[in-house]
Amino acid sequence: MPNRGKPLQSNTLVQNIMSQNVCNELQHRACREQWQQWCKATTYRQAKQLLRQANLSFTKYALWLSIADLRIVTGLLTGHADLNRHLTLMQIRTDTVCPLCQEDEETVLHLLGE
Ligand SMILES: [Zn+2]
Repeated sequence: MPNRGKPLQSNTLVQNIMSQNVCNELQHRACREQWQQWCKATTYRQAKQLLRQANLSFTKYALWLSIADLRIVTGLLTGHADLNRHLTLMQIRTDTVCPLCQEDEETVLHLLGE
């Protein structure tokens, strides 16, 4: 009489390994596809200056941030921060100049030392 327990355990182990491989492959494909879209896009000027490439570990880190911290990170990456350049574009301020040095526009890149 065949032992029905062992093949099931082996099958379960193989299924788990295959499932993990499928998950890894899907994750890599998603990253590649995201990277291709990122490269093709002609928008996201500021984000492209700060993020040179897709970064899965940064994405995972960002997903664990509080809403308030994620808002700050998003503002820094997109340029949609409470800085004079963006506030002027939104017609909230009338001067884009950095209040600290008075030499350049107050942007995220300027704030970070360009
Ligand atoms: Zn300045």
